[in-house]
Amino acid sequence: MVDLQSQYARIQPQIDKAILDVVSSAAFINGPEVKTFQSDLEDYLGVKHVIPCANGTDALQIAMMGLGLEPGDEVITADFTFAATVEVIALLNLTPVLVDVDPNTFNIDLESIRKAITPKTKAIVPVHLFGQCAQMEEILQIAGENDLYVIEDTAQAIGADYTFSDGSKKKAGTIGTLGTTSFFPSKNLGCYGDGGAIFTNDDDLAHTIRGMVNHGMYKRYYHDVVGVNSRLDSIQAAVLRLKLPHLDEYCRARREAAKYYNAGFRDNPNILTPVTEKCGEICDTCDCHVFHQYTLKITNGRRDAVHEHLNDLGIPNAIYYPVPLHRQKAYLDDRYKEEDFSVTNALSDTVLSLPMHTELEKEQQDLIIRTVIEAVEQS
Ligand SMILES: *Cc1c(COP(=O)(O)O)cnc(C)c1O
Repeated sequence: MVDLQSQYARIQPQIDKAILDVVSSAAFINGPEVKTFQSDLEDYLGVKHVIPCANGTDALQIAMMGLGLEPGDEVITADFTFAATVEVIALLNLTPVLVDVDPNTFNIDLESIRKAITPKTKAIVPVHLFGQCAQMEEILQIAGENDLYVIEDTAQAIGADYTFSDGSKKKAGTIGTLGTTSFFPSKNLGCYGDGGAIFTNDDDLAHTIRGMVNHGMYKRYYHDVVGVNSRLDSIQAAVLRLKLPHLDEYCRARREAAKYYNAGFRDNPNILTPVTEKCGEICDTCDCHVFHQYTLKITNGRRDAVHEHLNDLGIPNAIYYPVPLHRQKAYLDDRYKEEDFSVTNALSDTVLSLPMHTELEKEQQDLIIRTVIEAVEQS
């Protein structure tokens, strides 16, 4: 699904040197690379505070701890996402409230959010799924009317732009109360191990969270709050610092690959290609979608057949996500009614993600497109 070797090969000398420099400095934890990457990322995103941490799941957990959410508080999030989002809600003894998504963008559905709000609701966690922002302007409005926090799960959308109705733009993850991301190797800005970060423009919240990631210490060996140990190590920061200046070019390469796929599948009545909320089918100019995944909907009931056919031929492909969260054993709950999840239930039977990365070649895509179309049309 990704080609991390070829991407590494293009920046190998710089990366190798940066890693060796960290090793010889022996500043493995909280070395200068971490501070530099943090401030480079603050500049790139246009956000006041980036707090690096150990991974994207920790980032979500610490964001919720930082907001002081308490057991019993309800947190609304999308039913169609990677489990990390709901996992940390459950782990903190908060009450997850899963809601349906939009059938076209796969992102959290506004009407379903509105219906799910109760006096106990404290936060909404929109996930910018597959690389496209959720409808943040409307979500901020709903949050404002109901006094809710907004935590953007930006693990799949770092670098994406969100355009407000007045034309102003913000980077994904810098719009809500807090944003979180992951630097897992296959993410759009990936390191060579685990990594994550939390973003905010709120000085007090940033201060609270900076202590929380480090055992609740604001002064060495004085523990004011219960914290965790969640750090981005210096080697990962060195890698990320070198990759960050390439992020826009990586986003462009993904967008070009998505456009090429879209053109290849155009006019096939049984294949629906990804759409962007604001720019329509194919986006030529802006980073409104950074295509962490390129995900088709196969509408003639042959999704599983296509999946198997590609597997047989050794063509990478994946089903994200085969089971909506409300049907996962760990998150079953009597509160959920199947009729409230008609979209996620349908998506789990129709979606198929194809290889998507910065090194895709047109010949590879031609083969993938041809094979998918053949398999869809076989009967
Ligand atoms: C990858 C991912 C995470 C978790 O990130 P890790 O760094 O693997 O912990 C959280 N949310 C979403 C939507 C993700 O895709």
